[in-house]
Amino acid sequence: MSVQHDPVQRADFDQVMVPSYAPATFVPVRGAGSRVWDQSGRELIDFSGGIAVNALGHAHPALVKALTEQAGKLWHVSNVFTNEPALRLARKLVDATFADRVFLCNSGAEANEAAFKLARRVAHDRFGADKYEIIAATNSFHGRTLFTVSVGGQPKYSDGFGPKIQGITHVPYNDLEALRAAISDKTCAVVIEPIQGEGGVLPADLAYLQGARALCDEHNALLVFDEVQSGVGRSGHLYAYQHYGVTPDVLSSAKSLGGGFPIAAMLTTEALASHLAVGTHGTTYGGNPLGCAVAEALLDVVNTPEVLAGVKAKHERFKTRLLQIGERYGVFSGVRGMGLLIGAVLSDAWKGKAREFFDAAASENLMILQAGPDVVRFAPSLVIEDADIDEGLDRFERAVAKLTGA
Ligand SMILES: *Cc1c(COP(=O)(O)O)cnc(C)c1O
Repeated sequence: MSVQHDPVQRADFDQVMVPSYAPATFVPVRGAGSRVWDQSGRELIDFSGGIAVNALGHAHPALVKALTEQAGKLWHVSNVFTNEPALRLARKLVDATFADRVFLCNSGAEANEAAFKLARRVAHDRFGADKYEIIAATNSFHGRTLFTVSVGGQPKYSDGFGPKIQGITHVPYNDLEALRAAISDKTCAVVIEPIQGEGGVLPADLAYLQGARALCDEHNALLVFDEVQSGVGRSGHLYAYQHYGVTPDVLSSAKSLGGGFPIAAMLTTEALASHLAVGTHGTTYGGNPLGCAVAEALLDVVNTPEVLAGVKAKHERFKTRLLQIGERYGVFSGVRGMGLLIGAVLSDAWKGKAREFFDAAASENLMILQAGPDVVRFAPSLVIEDADIDEGLDRFERAVAKLTGA
């Protein structure tokens, strides 16, 4: 017997939801690969990837299989018990990265919260109570809990919620001299996104990351890479740090890790992990069998030479066409990013108007993203078909042509 629900629509959002989001005017109901259908049956191409989350698009057979098989076996046991999918996932993450130890949790903010708490704990244990300062970058984004908005470099997200977490300094991104001037023996961690995502899809300079590594070593501070957005194949490498060849002490991963199922991980070394002794940190849902089964299946697909090489090739396909569109309509001053995390920077004439591009694209049956008011962001499935890229960019060009009155 099927239960009859009252039909819901976008207008209900404004009546039953906290108004902290401004979702698009349509309601997606189904997806397959890089196509999505809304309530009216309209088909859209998805270049937004659930904000760099749906790494294998929608309803990928390997993920559906992993989820449904696990759903019939075991969903949750808590961390009073461990479980097989969690152990397999952690083994795969350790084998594929610098890390020896993994802490599993449910969101990017939680992975960062664990990273920042670990950094403070390590410094406290090794050097005493005065070494607690964290240096982060202006315009960075690390999540929405009070600690992570305080570390994040965008005051609009942290102002107005009472006292912030103390001991946090922000310096301009990609500015090694500013970091050098700010760091001291009171610094416990330097936190960097190897590619700033929300801040405008801005990749780090190699010399900046190398310099940050050296400064951290000099001052006994941990180098924390927030790879929540740049990780899990998005850059064309499993993690962006592997592209740069600069290894952090702690790395946070989420978004693409579950391909749409909420799961996250903090990766670190054995020596550092030993500071999180029994009882020091935890989460009820972290490492639950469902999420871990999905993430394990996702890693098996993404962490292959074919898929990672495909991401780099698809980057070029996007970039070439976006540069053409930018030139033809005068809307972009440049196209940047890595792999399938791409930002088209609006030209002076269009600065501040990224939302208009979002709406214009939606009118042409295309889902895209902004990264702040000045950057149009693309974060599609890592296995998006070339034909979908071409068709989506045709739609995007039509949107831009209408917007510019060309
Ligand atoms: C999205 C994001 C986060 C926060 O992740 P949530 O899952 O929303 O908590 C943290 N850091 C970066 C770089 C992100 O892009």
